[in-house]
Amino acid sequence: MTVKRQLSMVLDLNKCIGCQTCTAACKLMWTNRNGREFMYWNNVESQPGKGYPRDYENMGGGFDADGALRLGRQPSQEDYGIPWEYNYEDALMTGTDPWLRPNVKPTWGANWDEDEGEGDYPNSYYFYLPRLCNHCANPACLAACTRNAIYKRQEDGIVLVDQERCRGYRYCVNACPYKKIYFNEEISKSEKCIFCYPRIEKGLPTACAQQCVGRIRWIGYRDDEDGPIHKLVEKYKVALPLHAEWGTQPNVFYVPPMSPPKFGENGEQLDESRIPLSYLESLFGPRTGEVLDTLADARQAKADGRGSELMDILIGYKHSEMFKLS
Ligand code: SF4
Ligand code: SF4
Repeated sequence: MTVKRQLSMVLDLNKCIGCQTCTAACKLMWTNRNGREFMYWNNVESQPGKGYPRDYENMGGGFDADGALRLGRQPSQEDYGIPWEYNYEDALMTGTDPWLRPNVKPTWGANWDEDEGEGDYPNSYYFYLPRLCNHCANPACLAACTRNAIYKRQEDGIVLVDQERCRGYRYCVNACPYKKIYFNEEISKSEKCIFCYPRIEKGLPTACAQQCVGRIRWIGYRDDEDGPIHKLVEKYKVALPLHAEWGTQPNVFYVPPMSPPKFGENGEQLDESRIPLSYLESLFGPRTGEVLDTLADARQAKADGRGSELMDILIGYKHSEMFKLS
């Protein structure tokens, strides 16, 4: 789809500390009530892991190599994790129960397999992957909607659901391979990340980016050659989409994580990455190794005092300079 301009986000996975501040900021602002309790428009997963909803990578959706729309499956409530409440009244107010207890037996949640990762000590590994709607250039959710209820804004490419037109058919949920559009049973409509457009219209970054403790998120327009998005995606080419093979052309990009080295049997450091390159390539595509080499070179240049514009951008000295919204 063509739009006049496209707003995008880049996230540097080398800086994410998995604090979930972004998740909390988004949830408090948009999804903590009215049938949205199970929704995390922004969530942070430990990778390798099953993600949220559980096993979303195997649910299908997106487009075939020939461009045909694929309808995947819808996640169940158990795949998202059933939200639970605690007996605050009994435990904290009346004292009739000495324990805080959840009102259902939790079996899965958005952050259930946090920090599990893969591998055996001392070569175990994981990293954090924050995920939100990619505000795709070729959105499968939009292509699947028989009501034309999903649209991309011309001025910034943000993908939104027209709540008046939506009839809750849920084809969009089947079609989005990232499972980043959700069905609200209380109002029988689909809902999703709105890229905090009321904040964007006031020149403010999204809540997840504003609150990000690790300063891992940049926001700007793809066509702004002086902006951080253009430099990271187009000039230095170090930011890659997640699962580009799903064909939706995401506008959220990731700087892949550099890996610590593996240890040998006697504790010696090996010349081998602890995070297998093949695993990172399965997420971010065949250019991942090239990106990691570029990052290593930039880091070395900075360490040697030679200077590196790329590393200066990635450090993000001033948070306010990470957002260029005009
Ligand atoms: S990530 Fe999913 S919900 Fe978001 S625009 Fe792309 S296809 Fe639609
Ligand atoms: S707030 Fe930033 S550092 Fe913390 S989990 Fe979210 S993206 Fe990562």
